[in-house]
Amino acid sequence: MQTHVFDAVIVGAGGGGLMAALHASRAVSTAVISKLHPLRSHTGAAQGGVGAALGNLEEDRWEWHAYDTVKGSDFLADQDSVDILCRGAVEAVIELEHMGLPFDRTPDGRIAQRPFGGHTNNETHQPVRRACHAADRTGHMILQTLYQQCLKNRVTFFDEFQILDLVTVDREVRGVVAVEIVTGEVHVFHSKATLLATGGYGRVWQITSNAAALTGDGNAIVLRNGFPLQDMEFYQFHPTGIYGMGILITEGVRGEGGVLINGLGERFMPRYAPTIKDLASRDVVSRAIYLEIQAGRGIEGKDYVYLDVTPDTVNRYFKLDGKRNPDGTWRRITGADIESKLPDIADFTRTYLGVDPVRQPMPVQPTAHYAMGGIPTNVDGQVTVDEYATPVPGLYAVGECACVSVHGANRLGTNSLNDLLVFGRRAGAHMAIFCREASLQLLPADPAARVKARMDQLRSGKGTVRPAALREHLQRVMMQHVGVFRVEAGMQQAVREIHALRSQVDDIRLDDRGHRFNTDLLEAFQTQNLLDLAEVIAAGALARHESRGAHAREDFPNRDDRNWLVHTLAFRRPDGGTELRYKPVVIARYQPRERLY
Ligand SMILES: Cc1cc2nc3c(=O)[nH]c(=O)nc-3n(C[C@H](O)[C@H](O)[C@H](O)COP(=O)(O)OP(=O)(O)OC[C@H]3O[C@@H](n4cnc5c(N)ncnc54)[C@H](O)[C@@H]3O)c2cc1C
Repeated sequence: MQTHVFDAVIVGAGGGGLMAALHASRAVSTAVISKLHPLRSHTGAAQGGVGAALGNLEEDRWEWHAYDTVKGSDFLADQDSVDILCRGAVEAVIELEHMGLPFDRTPDGRIAQRPFGGHTNNETHQPVRRACHAADRTGHMILQTLYQQCLKNRVTFFDEFQILDLVTVDREVRGVVAVEIVTGEVHVFHSKATLLATGGYGRVWQITSNAAALTGDGNAIVLRNGFPLQDMEFYQFHPTGIYGMGILITEGVRGEGGVLINGLGERFMPRYAPTIKDLASRDVVSRAIYLEIQAGRGIEGKDYVYLDVTPDTVNRYFKLDGKRNPDGTWRRITGADIESKLPDIADFTRTYLGVDPVRQPMPVQPTAHYAMGGIPTNVDGQVTVDEYATPVPGLYAVGECACVSVHGANRLGTNSLNDLLVFGRRAGAHMAIFCREASLQLLPADPAARVKARMDQLRSGKGTVRPAALREHLQRVMMQHVGVFRVEAGMQQAVREIHALRSQVDDIRLDDRGHRFNTDLLEAFQTQNLLDLAEVIAAGALARHESRGAHAREDFPNRDDRNWLVHTLAFRRPDGGTELRYKPVVIARYQPRERLY
């Protein structure tokens, strides 16, 4: 077993981890551990853009961005964090521009911006152009830019190392235990400060936009070490996944004018959101699609609808909606605009569906997309452990695995990339100060004992259960009962089934018992993580007797601020069950109001 010592250890090389690493490494020795090569992190899949009220094309203000974020969150976001996000996003985008990120430009050379669901001019209530983009490859460009800067800053990278546990002594975190995927060797990383930026966990569901690696490892490890997870019942379904596959079609398509059409050939969003229509926030659009399908108005009665961005359709609706350019001419798009502004989308739909988006509508259905909940933190990325937001010294989290909370019950598009940048920077800077003042604490006698015991047990297991079978069963249950719409009986069934699946993890049998590149073994750990997270997601959803943001219950259709304007904290009980506690929401300028979509 090898041991490595760094001041700051960062787990995860997506936008959140790299931004934190960049800022920590300006002052202290910093390592980044990642189970994927950094440039394969899911941040690289982000298409649509990063939200910042630069006001380059029309008037915009960070306070409008803040209000949209709070409203989109269905008032569950902490408003102090939201202010930091929206003010900081402007600075962060300019910081990236100065690092060389090739944003698309306006004709006069400023960063171009496009509209995105839920982002509005607060005075006219019309969509505002706030999403900064580099074609439909914004996340890819962010990763490339930050990775280069980290290399320049001499951050040490451990690529293809998967962490399996934290090293803790009396609830104080002293590092992490990882396995080097290529050799199977166990490594201990000993640090003063540890940051988790392990991304989301869309793989809990069957249809998802998330990459295969998004199994919520950081969240599950935190939970098993006795720390809480916050607001896990709030999980966003993106309305437009490619039918049957879940691959994401960015909201940027609707930002460019694309519309949703049902089996009757009708544009249905004006019935659900008369003002903002197809650009309503994601929970509203996902539910609208679900209801159209339930009412038998899917395409050919099946469970999908069309997303139509063909120039004929778009230009017709631009006219009907009265959309003009600033010079008074009608807004128009052409096939060439689609090719240049949405090249990856055009490529995906041609490759995976044989559909040419310039000529044909695309079949879409809601897809599990984004975790609003996660590891609770304060605005400096420090993990907090209770209802009073008490921080654990030396443990940090940022990005999709964390919950600061700026997204509350529902995230607006483009508000994850800015979350990574703004809070990644703050966490990295805070870690640097912490590491300068703290001294390295001793490791326990055998810091990897628990991990090694579990590995031995899995390698020698004589059971009959395959990890993939457990995972697939779980994904079906979650899709059916803890998805876009939820009811009591379904969720109770989900809890029972998850419980039964969890009891089978000791009965796992691996086909591969070797050391090198044992993906079978690593998948067993990941499956266990998905099961542990599913349990707290379902428990939180079952307990919350209201509908808010992405959490929609048929049996409690209204938001209930009197009883439920609170964050959920889920703890793992020693007997393996879940204990739920609740924490107040930070309300500042914006009092909760009725939904105004
Ligand atoms: C298809 C798609 C499109 C999106 N488009 C947008 C968009 O346009 N705008 C927007 O704002 N948001 C978008 N999002 C959301 C946004 O991209 C993600 O929320 C965000 O990129 C997550 O970044 P992250 O740094 O938290 O984690 P990720 O980028 O997911 O990175 C996670 C990192 O953790 C590492 N890791 C995980 N587990 C372990 C482990 N056990 N050991 C070691 N390393 C580990 C991985 O190797 C990886 O490096 C999109 C998401 C998807 C899926």
